[in-house]
Amino acid sequence: MRKPIIAGNWKMNHNLQEALELAKKLKASIGNIEHVKVIIAPPAIYLYPLSLEFKDSTIELAAQNLHWEEKGAFTGEISGNMIKEVGGTYVIIGHSERRQYFGETDNIVNKKTIRALISGLSPIVCVGESLEEREKGETFKRIKTQISEGLKGLAKDEISKIIIAYEPVWAIGTGKTATPNQAEEVHKYIRNLIQDIFSYNIAISIPILYGGSVKPDNIDTLMAQNDIDGALVGGASLKADSFIKIVNFKK
Ligand code: PEP
Repeated sequence: MRKPIIAGNWKMNHNLQEALELAKKLKASIGNIEHVKVIIAPPAIYLYPLSLEFKDSTIELAAQNLHWEEKGAFTGEISGNMIKEVGGTYVIIGHSERRQYFGETDNIVNKKTIRALISGLSPIVCVGESLEEREKGETFKRIKTQISEGLKGLAKDEISKIIIAYEPVWAIGTGKTATPNQAEEVHKYIRNLIQDIFSYNIAISIPILYGGSVKPDNIDTLMAQNDIDGALVGGASLKADSFIKIVNFKK
C-alpha cells in the first residue's frame, strides 16, 4: 500500500513571520497525522526556523532546489548537505518553473537527483508536458524523455527513495486542473514506464503525485484514482485553511 503524500510548495512567498504563523497553524491541525505524509517546501532560508517549529510533529520539510555539486565556488547556490543539515529531508527537482526560467534540462535534473540521493535527501522529481506538447499529441513522448533522462543511471535501491510529481505545465497556477481521467492516464503511463525501466516491485511502490491547481474542491476526485498517490500543491498551500482541507481529503 502506498501512503498518500500531500506536499505544499510555497515557492517564493511569505515573509518569515507569515511563514512561522502558517507553520504553527499546520502543526496544530495536521501535525500529528500518520495516515498521510505531509511535506512543506518553504523558501530554503526558512528551512531551519521551520524545522524548529515542526519538531515533534510528523510534518517533514523539503527544499525547492539544490545544486548538483557537493560544494565549491557556486555563488548563490545551496548544497544537498546544507539542506539536510537545516532539517530538510526532501528536495523538489525539475519543477517546471525551474525548467522554464532557469534553463534546467533533463541532464541537470539527473545530476541534481543523484546529488540529492548522495546527500541523503529524497528527491521529488517533477515532470509534465506543455500545452503545445499536449495539443500535438506528444504528452507521453515528453514524459518518457523526462523520466528516462532524469532518472538515468539510478540503481534500484535509489529509485525506491524517489517521489515523482506529474505536473502538466498548462495546469500550474492557471486554475485549470487536468481532469481526474487525464491525470490518471499519465500516472498509469509513468508507472508502466517505471516497470519497463526498473521493475514491477518498484513500479507498484513508487509514489506518483499530481500537481496543477489542486484545491480543496478537486482533491477528492483526484485521490480516488488508482495511480494518484498524492498531490504537489502550489497556490492552495499558502493558506492554512485550504491546505488542511486538502490534507484531509476523503477517499
Ligand atoms: C506547483 O507549483 O507545483 C503547483 C502545482 O502550483 P499550483 O497548485 O498553484 O498550480
